[in-house]
Amino acid sequence: GNYTTEEILRMAEEEDVEFIRLQFTDMFGTLKNIAITARELERALNHEYLIDCSFIAGISGEREPDMYLRPDLDTFSVLPWRPQQGKVARLLCDICRPDGTPYLGSSRYILKKTVDAALADGYTCYVDPECEFFLFHTDDNGMPTTVTHEQAGYLDISPLDLGENARRDMVLTLEDMGYEVESSHHETAPAQHEIDFKYGEVRKMADCLMTFKMAVRIIAKRHGLHATFMPKPKKEANGSGMHLHFSLFKNGRNIFQDQENPEKLSDEAYYFAGGLLAHSKEMALITNPLVNSYKRLVPGYEAPTKLTWTKNNQDSLVRISDPRGDETRIELRSPDPSANPYLVFAVCLAAGLDGIRKKLKPVEASDSLGFEEGQKGEDLGKLPENLKEAITLFEESSWIKEILGREFCEEYAAAKKKEWMRYTTEITKWELEEYLYRI
Ligand code: GLN
Ligand code: MG
Ligand code: MG
Ligand code: MG
Repeated sequence: GNYTTEEILRMAEEEDVEFIRLQFTDMFGTLKNIAITARELERALNHEYLIDCSFIAGISGEREPDMYLRPDLDTFSVLPWRPQQGKVARLLCDICRPDGTPYLGSSRYILKKTVDAALADGYTCYVDPECEFFLFHTDDNGMPTTVTHEQAGYLDISPLDLGENARRDMVLTLEDMGYEVESSHHETAPAQHEIDFKYGEVRKMADCLMTFKMAVRIIAKRHGLHATFMPKPKKEANGSGMHLHFSLFKNGRNIFQDQENPEKLSDEAYYFAGGLLAHSKEMALITNPLVNSYKRLVPGYEAPTKLTWTKNNQDSLVRISDPRGDETRIELRSPDPSANPYLVFAVCLAAGLDGIRKKLKPVEASDSLGFEEGQKGEDLGKLPENLKEAITLFEESSWIKEILGREFCEEYAAAKKKEWMRYTTEITKWELEEYLYRI
């Protein structure tokens, strides 16, 4: 680690930190926190901070609702948007049982377990996420709308781009907190933006994305805007994706490259892509967790709809575009930013490694996909069309239970079923417009 307990205490003292937010992520990727005063910091650092988890998603099912928050010292950072006198710092925490053992339902712990298993085979996984989001106006009551005065499109500049100042603040804030941003731009839809990070180890990047979403929302608000990571807020416009560029290292070297191969791609690169393709359906409930997620995955909006891999098609699930060499990356295009990044990285890493283990070699395709002859999963079919299909595929998968844990999967699926019920029992505006008058 980077910091010791003593160093954190000293930094907090020197920086005049008055409050520390102990933050953790629930099952569905929502960041939660409890603010403690600086006086309590030492106790928290000694893992003595108990919280009542009775109402926290994915934890409340426990017989023992009290859990310890165990801060990860490397995540200490001052929140740049809080007052600069009497500062506020945060620590991301793991959730532990009262006996000190990790809580199996903690998504941050699930990712750690997956990463450790990969490391035991010599693999380290890096990811370079591109996260899209919308900046909308709020109404007179401060409630979010889907209204924007913008008409800007892909890579447009000011004065068309009305979000440049907010984006600038977001990037500077994240850099301030120690996260390396590569670029930011206006995306295709009016009011849609994207921020791209420099690649990093998956655990660090999951923490980064949690921090990112918190910072984006807060800074948008300061600019009088509402930031949303909802996958498809507007029917007639592109939705927001969270494309993930993976690379896999062994002995300090990116093993997706192979200078001998005409495409400069190694077998492992093909297999990893094959694993992502083969498991994409059962992991859709994790990568695309909302009713609304499936409204993004339709043709015509640069979102993936085909279970294929190509070099450059927007509609493929997997892309392996240039460059090659050390920068060789496999892009998975299905995830959206509403997903819990810890769970997404855990299932993606496990899927890719399963592809390597089983030597699943997908054939490059522009249309429908096959694996090389005689391989399992030859007929991949398509991604689930809605949340209900995703739930079914998830529940039928024994593979996903190995990665996330059986109980975790049960609780997750039960909550998703309730969400689907709430949705299908709703009488929508569409139905009233379609039927009320005519029928
Ligand atoms: N917004 C598109 C999606 O839903 C991606 C657009 C792009 O980055 N080319 O994934
Ligand atoms: Mg984009
Ligand atoms: Mg990047
Ligand atoms: Mg992309």
